[in-house]
Amino acid sequence: MGKSLSFDIAAILILTLLLISCIMRKLTSGTPNKLFLLFIFMTWLATGFDIWAVYLDNANSTNLPALLAAHSGYLLIHNFTVPVYVLFVISLTDTWHKIRKSLWIQVVLWAPVLIVMAALLINPFARTMFLVERGYQRGPWFFLIYVGVLIYLIFVIGYMIYYRDLVERSKAIAVMSYIPIGVTALLIQLVSPSTLVEMFSSAISLLLMSIGVQRPEEIMDSDTQFMKYSAYATDMARNYRSEKHVNVVMLNLGNFSSINAMMGYDFAMVVLNEVVARIRKINRAVDSKGDVYYLDRGRFRMVFAEYDRERAVKAADMLVKSLMEKADYNNLDVTLNPFVILARCPEEIPDFKTLMTFGMDFHEKTRFEGRVMKVSDAVREDIFEIQNNIDSIIENALNFKRFQVYYQPIYSTGKGRFVSAEALLRLFDPNYGFISPELLVTAAEKSGAIHRIGDYVLEEVCQFIASEEFKSLGLEYIEVNLSVTQCMRGNLAEDVLAIMEKYHVSSEKINLEITETAASHAQEVMSENLRKLTQAGVSFSLDDYGTGYSNIKRVIQLPLKIIKLDKTFVDEQDNPKMLVVLKNTVAMLKDMNMEIVVEGIETQEMLDFFTELRCDFIQGYFFSKPIPKPEFVHFIRSWS
Ligand code: C2E
Ligand code: MG
Ligand code: MG
Repeated sequence: MGKSLSFDIAAILILTLLLISCIMRKLTSGTPNKLFLLFIFMTWLATGFDIWAVYLDNANSTNLPALLAAHSGYLLIHNFTVPVYVLFVISLTDTWHKIRKSLWIQVVLWAPVLIVMAALLINPFARTMFLVERGYQRGPWFFLIYVGVLIYLIFVIGYMIYYRDLVERSKAIAVMSYIPIGVTALLIQLVSPSTLVEMFSSAISLLLMSIGVQRPEEIMDSDTQFMKYSAYATDMARNYRSEKHVNVVMLNLGNFSSINAMMGYDFAMVVLNEVVARIRKINRAVDSKGDVYYLDRGRFRMVFAEYDRERAVKAADMLVKSLMEKADYNNLDVTLNPFVILARCPEEIPDFKTLMTFGMDFHEKTRFEGRVMKVSDAVREDIFEIQNNIDSIIENALNFKRFQVYYQPIYSTGKGRFVSAEALLRLFDPNYGFISPELLVTAAEKSGAIHRIGDYVLEEVCQFIASEEFKSLGLEYIEVNLSVTQCMRGNLAEDVLAIMEKYHVSSEKINLEITETAASHAQEVMSENLRKLTQAGVSFSLDDYGTGYSNIKRVIQLPLKIIKLDKTFVDEQDNPKMLVVLKNTVAMLKDMNMEIVVEGIETQEMLDFFTELRCDFIQGYFFSKPIPKPEFVHFIRSWS
């Protein structure tokens, strides 16, 4: 009885369509895609040889060379598709680094296919695999093929179970469907040898895999044709889990958000497209070895293998240089601020969560220097450890009374002497040394510890003000910082007044600093707090004026006595436009009867400049850094 070719022909059709669809959907780059294409192509070829062989068999051909070629070709190629399938599964887990390290895995991967291949190649002489002289017949060594396939299947099932966390469940099911479908086909062929469903079953599982695994829309960003945020998150999480070491080039365009806000979406897209084109060019220059992702808001990532360090270094370098070049977009010159960090992961960024939070805003925490930075340039080396332990650091500091209050003198230009000081929080941790108050305050706001810290600072200050020592210094008041969360607390006013009362400190001796961010939250609770405290005679300063969106309306509405010009104002005084802003800001605030403190004065020239402008108070390293209480007392005494 002749064998039916219908299933094989259907298989060829399905496989041809699959090949076309993969190419049209641009599923051609990246190892998994390439392996999948190879997998389809080999199945396609094997089916072709199968059709040829069956055709010859059905025609009772006596052309021995043709019969040998057709059957050997079919078995050889079919023999190779199984390890290609195994490689495809491995590529989904992205664990090549594990394979490379393990000799026995490599043996299991290559030995079966090579042994079967050798047996097939010597078969025309040895005639041990199959015979074609009197119709196609299996030889005594044919079982080797089955043993080989069995080894691969056991391996792949074990591998998938072992690395199940690295592949999404739906993808794992799609890719593993190859096995039960293949086994079913084998059983059918065993029962009914003339029904050739084996290649058809392979085509069907490839179709399932293509639907379940190869979904480009899930991965690609449509604006840039780079992979998207979610793909970056999945890939990087997997790298950390499987301990794969990589070099990550992080590019955050510092001013992209403001370009978007000021020039609008269309213009921002023009800029984005130009940046994308340059990144592509750079990736080509390093042999396209980087996986490129576009996260959002001008943030890109290129990920290189551990051994591609040199390429990563080159790409990072080229990114900074190329993106800093001024470019003409729609007849407008735009200069970008490409913040680029090259990080070894996990060596320099220990865990996935830290990688994601660090990458979000490192460009806001450093100055733009136009060069490739290391993680440690953007943050201190042990920052991630500190951040991960910050809650217990704060708890311990509170329990073991490790917090301290330092004072930074404030000079009155009108009176020619020091009239006050700002109280600033300090923590020297036994394990990590100095930890910046900004870090502490942000974390303490989240955990709620800020209220206990705030109470501690105010008590220290009140105790100081109540002392005989303080009275001898001739200072008028002390400034104490309040964070946003503190201002939002219902009983802030009562707490503050209770502490002041405890030490018999009169209200004009305390000035509370609130920030612009707090002011912009101006809601009921906060206004009520401010009202109660003002009524009790406590005055307020607006801290860091000029850093946020300086909302003049709030400045008018809030009961403020003092405005503190932020250091950024001071830093830019040689910019002629800034000079205009400064002069007019000072004039405006003066007309509103506000007092002005200038922060961050470091040189005599700066001092002269702002004294000339008739700013009332000066604070900065020029006079003194924040110093511990005894030194501060000594400092003020030595000046008077
Ligand atoms: P801030 O209130 O604006 O404090 C002024 C900061 O500028 C201080 O940083 C001070 O050391 C620094 N500074 C003063 N003069 C100069 C100068 O001439 N040059 C330079 N480069 N810097 C100068 P510090 O102590 O690191 O405090 C940072 C921020 O942490 C403070 O900014 C404040 O927002 C917050 N903070 C500090 N202590 C407390 C506190 O007790 N409670 C709350 N809620 N926040 C605090
Ligand atoms: Mg302050
Ligand atoms: Mg300030």
